[in-house]
Amino acid sequence: MIKPLVNLLGLNAQELGQLVQDLGWPRYRTHQILQWLYQHRVPAIEGMTNVSKADRERLQQVATVYRDEQISRRIAKDGTEKFLWRLVDDLAVETVLIPEERRRTLCLSSQVGCTLDCGFCLTAQMGIKRNLRAPEIVGQVLNVQAQLPEGDHITSMVFMGMGEPLMNFDAVAEAIQRLTNLEWGLGFSPRRITVSTAGWIPRFPDVRRLGVNLAISLNGTTNAQRDYLMPAVNGRYNLDALIQACRTYLEDSERPLTFEYVLIAGVNDSVEDANRLASLLRGLRCKINMIPFNEFPGNPFRRPRPEDIDVFQQTVRRRGLDVFLRKSRGDDVLGACGQLGRSASEVLEGMPTRSKQSLPMYAES
Ligand code: SF4
Repeated sequence: MIKPLVNLLGLNAQELGQLVQDLGWPRYRTHQILQWLYQHRVPAIEGMTNVSKADRERLQQVATVYRDEQISRRIAKDGTEKFLWRLVDDLAVETVLIPEERRRTLCLSSQVGCTLDCGFCLTAQMGIKRNLRAPEIVGQVLNVQAQLPEGDHITSMVFMGMGEPLMNFDAVAEAIQRLTNLEWGLGFSPRRITVSTAGWIPRFPDVRRLGVNLAISLNGTTNAQRDYLMPAVNGRYNLDALIQACRTYLEDSERPLTFEYVLIAGVNDSVEDANRLASLLRGLRCKINMIPFNEFPGNPFRRPRPEDIDVFQQTVRRRGLDVFLRKSRGDDVLGACGQLGRSASEVLEGMPTRSKQSLPMYAES
């Protein structure tokens, strides 16, 4: 039986070092290969031109460079783009590119589906299929970057796509290492990366150590509201524990927190809610992003009226907090916040399966 090739993007720096050693090559070769993978972003070993032809051929006998296949790229009226990738096991995930005047923000997925069950989120309806591996996360960046016009590049990244990133922390941390490493990685500043969590507080100190931004998807100002909207996470770590974890986080962090607040008509958008939100977050170094609920078929929640959104924002602002309205982007292709998932699970149905031998092997396979 032919052994599948090892995906070089699937190896971390130590594992690649081991492969280089097994091939009897000098240690500096590891660094060279990493630079080809992440800085020059070659799609194949053939392109690693400072490695001798003989050594490239030797490497091609055992390894390959494999990025997940792109199934679709849909462009919304406002320019937001939604990409769908097919993973090696025929599951699918989505990534959203949000272009603004001088910024290109990439919204990354960290799980296929999600472990949590937020009632306003389409991904939650899929349940959890599995965690993404680090190369499947970094691959979203490499694949999208490769399709941008010359001179254009991704300016920031947010882990706000499918999944709860802090429940797949090891892979997310490894991906962030590859995205931020200056010697051989993609060289992004950690300040340009935001990890968004529904409130998985045990991992907050780990996020702080990574030096990236932390955003909390809050959405409720009482335990009753969070139990209703986000029962799994609030059942585990209630609002008091969450706010205490935020205070502790800020004690040792230079970076302020961001609170995301999905506004849902008649659920959490009243003046009382706005006042409670201001009281809850008083004294925390933070800003609040209001996200009017993005409706999707089959969900009973509704987006508040613009005038109610305005009153909510003014109420919080008068209490001295920085509160911003996030424009809804890409909702006509179900690419807006909370709308990812359904197409990912449906689109691969009926597509021909692929031979396992044509696909690379990951370290744990
Ligand atoms: S909002 Fe985020 S954490 Fe909640 S179910 Fe959706 S993907 Fe998961």
